[in-house]
This record gives sequence, C-alpha cells and structure tokens, in this order.
Amino acid sequence: MADEMRREPTFFAKHFGPVGGFGITFKQQFKKVITEEYPEQPRPTQPRFHGRHQLNRHPDGLEKWVGCELCAWACPADAILVEGAGNDDTPLEEGGTGRFSPGERYGRIYQINYLRCILCGLCIEACPTRALTMTNFYELADDTRGKLIYTKEQLLAPLEEGMVRPPHPMVAGMKERDYYQGKVSGATEDQRTYAESIQGHTDTDEPEVEAS
Ligand code: SF4
Repeated sequence: MADEMRREPTFFAKHFGPVGGFGITFKQQFKKVITEEYPEQPRPTQPRFHGRHQLNRHPDGLEKWVGCELCAWACPADAILVEGAGNDDTPLEEGGTGRFSPGERYGRIYQINYLRCILCGLCIEACPTRALTMTNFYELADDTRGKLIYTKEQLLAPLEEGMVRPPHPMVAGMKERDYYQGKVSGATEDQRTYAESIQGHTDTDEPEVEAS
C-alpha cells in the first residue's frame, strides 16, 4: 500500500536534486563575509563591558585604595585577597615605609584570582572611592594557574602625565577629603623632589604572598 502511494520524483528532482545543495554553497559566495579575524583584529566591546580590573590613582600618583576591604567582602566568588597596611610619614632614613595613598591606610597586597572571578562587578559597586574599576580588557586566558592570579603591580593603573610614583607625601595643605573632592590636579614640585630623593631607598614591589 505504501509503495503504491509513493510518488515518482519529477524529472527536475531526479536530475538536479543530488546537486541542489551546491546552489546554497554558490549563493554564499556573493554574501558579505562575517568571519571575525580574532585575535588579529579583536572587536571593541560595549562601553560598560566588565573586563579586567584596575586599581586607580589620584592625579598626583597616590593610590586611591583606602584599605576598607569592602571589595573582598562583596565578592561572591572569594576571588580577592587584600591586605592593608598603614601609611607611614616617618622619613625613610629613620625606618619609615612611606605614604602610598592619602589617609590612614593603603593596599599593601592586592590579588584577584581570575580562575574564580566571574566578572560580576559587585566588587566595583562596593568600592566607596572608585579605587577599583573594571576595564574593557577581556583576554584573560593563560596556560598556568599562577598566571591568572593578578597582583597589585599588574592591576595598578600606569602613571600618567603629572603623576609621581609613590611613596611620597600628600600635596602640601591638602587633606584626604580634598583628594576625593577633586582638589588635587597633579604632583607638586615638593612631591617630585621627595620622590627623586628616595630613589634607591625604596622597594615598592609587592611582597611575596602565597596564592589564594
Ligand atoms: S567581579 Fe565579581 S567575582 Fe570578580 S572579583 Fe569582583 S566581585 Fe569577585
């Protein structure tokens, strides 16, 4: 019964059916190519894309971190390791460690483990000073676990024009609050002189810490 109901293919289907698929291939040759040439030509992200983090600086080069550790508390993935320390205005010759941020404390150790981070952005929402923000950089793959634990030195924003690498004192006459009210526009001559005078006296590299 089923055989009786089966219809004979038409002449066209019989002879051109087997090569019909080539027609689709042929048509594609005239369409706009949508292949992305990644990684040679990475596409720009959306402006508010959540990429790699950045630790920001004030216009004179001091770090914005105040040691509150709210980012680590807010992180649902337990990806942030922080250890604050007190700024020290004691002269370096007398054993002082120097000032890295305005105010009382600064981030001595800061690590983000990108094996755990889900780039949710809760840490930057928690940050009261905009010390921690996220960039549009997303190429975070690597071949060892260790390379995916970013340290403070890797996350710190580069020094821009007008900045001086800490440690150095705050701008004379300014208080911590003035920094956050945007009253500091760049490093002063006093700060430059101080930074030059201590070159060779300091080691600003992050201390060795076991990865979390
Ligand atoms: S983006 Fe989310 S997961 Fe990543 S460090 Fe911040 S709070 Fe943690």
